[in-house]
Amino acid sequence: MNHLLEILRNNRDLPDDDFKIIIEEEQYEEELFSIADSVRRQHYGVDVYIRGLIEFTNYCKNNCLYCGIRRDNQHVKRYRLDKNEILACCKQGYELGFRTFVLQGGEDNYFTDEMISEIITEIKSLYSDCAVTLSIGERTKETYKAWFDAGADRYLLRHETANEEHYKKIHPECLRLKNRKKCLWDLKEIGYQVGSGFMVGSPFQTIDCLIEDIRFLQELQPDMIGIGPFLSHKQTPFHSFPNGDFHKCLRLIAILRLIFPYSLIPATTALGTINTQGREMGLKAGANIVMPNLSPVKFRKQYELYDNKICTNEEAAECKSCLEKRVQSAGYRIVTDVGHVRR
Ligand code: SF4
Repeated sequence: MNHLLEILRNNRDLPDDDFKIIIEEEQYEEELFSIADSVRRQHYGVDVYIRGLIEFTNYCKNNCLYCGIRRDNQHVKRYRLDKNEILACCKQGYELGFRTFVLQGGEDNYFTDEMISEIITEIKSLYSDCAVTLSIGERTKETYKAWFDAGADRYLLRHETANEEHYKKIHPECLRLKNRKKCLWDLKEIGYQVGSGFMVGSPFQTIDCLIEDIRFLQELQPDMIGIGPFLSHKQTPFHSFPNGDFHKCLRLIAILRLIFPYSLIPATTALGTINTQGREMGLKAGANIVMPNLSPVKFRKQYELYDNKICTNEEAAECKSCLEKRVQSAGYRIVTDVGHVRR
């Protein structure tokens, strides 16, 4: 075994310069993926957990420069799902074997804290064996606490980049890395299973930014880590920037699996968008989650964070069965399980 990879597997860490070598250089890739896969099998066998994604609002008050549903994109047809529509997605998802529902949306003030609490309570009372994951951005600690008390189990909030200067270059003035990090610490303190992550290849990102991302995650010790390649969107200020490097993204998935053997790492839709076999390859590099879409098909195209997003036409059942085949072809199996982290 390559000695750097051996050290990484045993110590779950490397000095910065060694991390840079295995992030940048393709020659270690094959062995890296195979070691990451064996570590994922030690912790999770061949199980792949599914999360039912419900994109319930594409309104957002923010203006992140990379995001297709940013406030200033006038070309987006905006929509919101009401409580009953969200519950209908859950019902269908439950029947298909989903045991986690991910409520994802922009930062949309139309939904008050109470409305979100009510939705969570209702989902939990109907499906007590399911987990509710929220992915609705930066809020106050009080709000996070209220939603946790209402029954929310997990929260996804990608930090996107842990480098202060880089953060400023890809976000509007009003968003601060300091606050993003505070939100993540608040969520942990409250007791959520917390997910964070970053884009690979976003404009102005350097290899040092990626090292800072790893170091921040080591501090935070999240339960879930979502990374994906930067993919440009034609109606954003970053429309002319190149997409992120697919293989670098796979290498980072494998590295994260070795640093955090217990973690839940999705093979993201962005990976499947940049490469038709992207999700299968993500699983083979150490990912253990897939997130089929449960949102009504008529709204899917309107939740386009980046160009050419896949899975916008399939009904939930088709989406799940397509992923089931893909997961199987990669040598794993989708399970009906709430899929909590195994620390
Ligand atoms: S990345 Fe999130 S917070 Fe930023 S504009 Fe898009 S939906 Fe809003």
